[in-house]
Amino acid sequence: MTTANFVDFQNVWLAYNDELLAQNHFAVEDINLQVKQGEFIAIVGPSGCGKSTFMKLTTGLKRPSKGQIFVDGQPVTGPLKISGMAFQAPSLLPWRTTLDNVLLPLEIVEPFRSQFKQRKAEFAERASKLLRTVGLGGYEDKFPWQLSGGMQQRASICRALIHEPKMLLLDEPFGALDALTRGNIQDELVTIVRQTKQTIFMITHDVDEAILLSDKIFLMSNGPRAKLAEIVTNPLPRDRTRATMHHDPKFYEVRNHLIDFLVHRSKTFAAA
Ligand code: ADP
Ligand code: MG
Repeated sequence: MTTANFVDFQNVWLAYNDELLAQNHFAVEDINLQVKQGEFIAIVGPSGCGKSTFMKLTTGLKRPSKGQIFVDGQPVTGPLKISGMAFQAPSLLPWRTTLDNVLLPLEIVEPFRSQFKQRKAEFAERASKLLRTVGLGGYEDKFPWQLSGGMQQRASICRALIHEPKMLLLDEPFGALDALTRGNIQDELVTIVRQTKQTIFMITHDVDEAILLSDKIFLMSNGPRAKLAEIVTNPLPRDRTRATMHHDPKFYEVRNHLIDFLVHRSKTFAAA
């Protein structure tokens, strides 16, 4: 039953602690969803509606108060090794250079770990290539304290991408980036998702970004009942690009639908 879906949420509720549970105060409520391997899911919703909580549940950092979560056919009982993550705030190790921070997952995760010594030059080239796409070419040997906040953020995104994890969780990773860098990283992600079978969840406030990158868009609504309100299937062809997608009238239809949800329906869904 669960094997066909890569991620499967069955009636998932989460209260952050016992006190909140006793008050029936849930951060997310009755989430049911199924995601296939290789799907790119964008998550859109107002602040505080439970998007980050959803990510913590998916990767096993939080256990549900009620319901069950399966990933890759297994019940999630603790933090998963198969997922890569990049969050709003960068989290580089201060004693490692930019290059060594980006290489970290390859030193930890198999099959790379056991090949790390032999293939180090190749891995370093892969890391440098990623760093160049985010405008950090030449910063390989700098330490985090020598980089601006935005540069550290770009390096953390490279670290999440380097080992092409089976599941990639991106929590508003591009929010603080300038438009040019953001566009470059979006293009890089498009290339990656076309080549790999990674399952990706990305929280974003940018509806154009959601339409460019995702196969499906999860719309989450705000309390008192924070839940998954609607799933929108992206109507645009998969070979869309940043340059061409605006020429398709369907782009404006889906864009208007998302904006209408955010403006008019995301806070009132529960009352309906
Ligand atoms: P979003 O990412 O959509 O902005 P969050 O998932 O961070 O929303 O938060 C959802 C709800 O859970 C909010 O009401 C928030 O205050 C609450 N919350 C988040 N983290 C915690 C925590 N560690 N302890 C208690 N409540 C939390
Ligand atoms: Mg959040």
